[in-house]
Amino acid sequence: MEKDERDLLDVLKFELNFVEKGGYSPSPREPRKMNFIFEDSPTCMNYDSKDNPGPCGECVLMGLVPPGQRSQTIPCRHIPLDAAGQTLDSLYRQAEPAEIGEIYEKWLRATIAKLSEEREKRAATPAQAPAAPSAPAAAEPLFGKLHPKCANPACTAAFHWLAGGRFYRFVPGELTDSTKANAAEQSGSSVTAKHYWLCETCVQSHTLNYKPDSGVVVERRWPELPVSEPPKQLSAARH
Ligand SMILES: [Zn+2]
Repeated sequence: MEKDERDLLDVLKFELNFVEKGGYSPSPREPRKMNFIFEDSPTCMNYDSKDNPGPCGECVLMGLVPPGQRSQTIPCRHIPLDAAGQTLDSLYRQAEPAEIGEIYEKWLRATIAKLSEEREKRAATPAQAPAAPSAPAAAEPLFGKLHPKCANPACTAAFHWLAGGRFYRFVPGELTDSTKANAAEQSGSSVTAKHYWLCETCVQSHTLNYKPDSGVVVERRWPELPVSEPPKQLSAARH
């Protein structure tokens, strides 16, 4: 079973659709069999693989389970559904199916509304590169540090292989003729490449350049790109 990479909001919308279509209603063949919320829905990560279930810890729903309940056998029964802290686990012990359905649906709609609202807010305020240096500033090399980070000295984004952004590699021998002499001077006889990384946010407004007098610097792109421009360099960073 692969790690669950579904989007939580999409999963919950799908689940609401399932609920509205009466997905949890008892089947006419087994009118006495109770259907369990999440577990008997296609929303369950293991719906199609009951014989070979993946660990619930990888399910996208786990983000809704309080940390203290995540080691439960069926963690999704422990998602708090109302202000009183009722969960499917507590409701199955004391409430009628109709009441459980009502509480659950109310929670589901409220959670979808909350997640949608958060996303809209995030989309309305695009990420800004933090305090971008207006004049070129010396870029910080990626390696040789305890905590590798974005080359923009004003940015604190920690480096991660899967974080996107863009890699830069500067090899003194590969620099243009006009800069070669200087680069050789600066690096001595070493031709070791230096690696830099601009995070996904910074790479949208900045780039790295080699300057004969100041070395590798962080510069604003020119012409300036709109901040919303998606970084295209991800594929280039993977080889
Ligand atoms: Zn950055």
